[in-house]
Amino acid sequence: MIKNSPLLEVNALKKHFPIHGGLLGQTTAKVYAVDGVTFSIDRGETLSLVGESGCGKSTVGRAILRLFDLTDGEVYLDGERIDNMRASRLRSMRQRMQVVFQDPFSSLNPRMKVRDILAEPLRNFGVVKGHKALTARIEDLMDTVRLPRDAINRFPHEFSGGQRQRIGIARALAPGADLIICDEAVSALDVSVKAQIINLLGDLQQELGLALLFISHDLATVEHLTHRVAVMYLGKIVELADRRSLFSATRHPYTLALLSAVPVPDPTAKRQRMILTGDVPSPINPPSGCRFHTRCPFAFDRCRVEEPVLRPGGAEGHLAACHLDELPTRKVLPAAA
Ligand code: SF4
Repeated sequence: MIKNSPLLEVNALKKHFPIHGGLLGQTTAKVYAVDGVTFSIDRGETLSLVGESGCGKSTVGRAILRLFDLTDGEVYLDGERIDNMRASRLRSMRQRMQVVFQDPFSSLNPRMKVRDILAEPLRNFGVVKGHKALTARIEDLMDTVRLPRDAINRFPHEFSGGQRQRIGIARALAPGADLIICDEAVSALDVSVKAQIINLLGDLQQELGLALLFISHDLATVEHLTHRVAVMYLGKIVELADRRSLFSATRHPYTLALLSAVPVPDPTAKRQRMILTGDVPSPINPPSGCRFHTRCPFAFDRCRVEEPVLRPGGAEGHLAACHLDELPTRKVLPAAA
């Protein structure tokens, strides 16, 4: 394995959930939740996976964590294939990838003190031995997430939402993970608290060299945190680029629509807006051709029959899946801000 290979590699990941029906409970349909997703994350990098509810982004996170088996595709952590790894070996890999969930209240056991919440992963993964070392490590984790050490004897309900999310982050850091999957980790928080948690994650990334997969429905949330962004629509990545290219040289109409929802700091500034109409189509029966054609104002005949593939264009590493890219008159979509 070469040392500078990505920490996480996801190749052509598919997850289709069967729907059972009929008298014999046979498979009558499938939910095409994730349908061929490829990306990688380097050490110390943040990649944001963004899209509307139901686009499959959280399923990608759960598939990486092997909370279920993949339908197809491969996942590598630090060069080792983990999607088909046996349970005994997978346990040690799980130590290296942890998750922070959206709702810090329901993800923390209300009957456990913070000390016990943090002690659990430390004991389970055998990170420390002995009571003294355990307490020292727990206090260390409290320092890391900027919470007072004496709060370890309190219960989750005694903390604010932001503080509870700090505990969730401390729990994820406890086993010594180098990949943290943040699944809508700040979505339930107020704006100011959200900013504090995002700053904390940015600081921790620099201090600890963490790789972050940041899953969010909102581009505004990831704008100041992320290095690269992958935009998902109905189980597929439609655009992937570094932050600057994605925000200033948008190539996919769906990304433009998501950017239209991002508030502009200067209310007098003009912005090209694209308001999406209609709901996301069902992943049980995705539209033919480009999956976005039923909502895309730029759709033309080819879009309805031929699926666009991700193609490079613009800055290095900027990929987009849109037939407009091949039209000679168009370079990039109108600037979103
Ligand atoms: Fe719109 Fe067609 Fe591009 Fe799909 S391929 S985003 S429908 S223009």
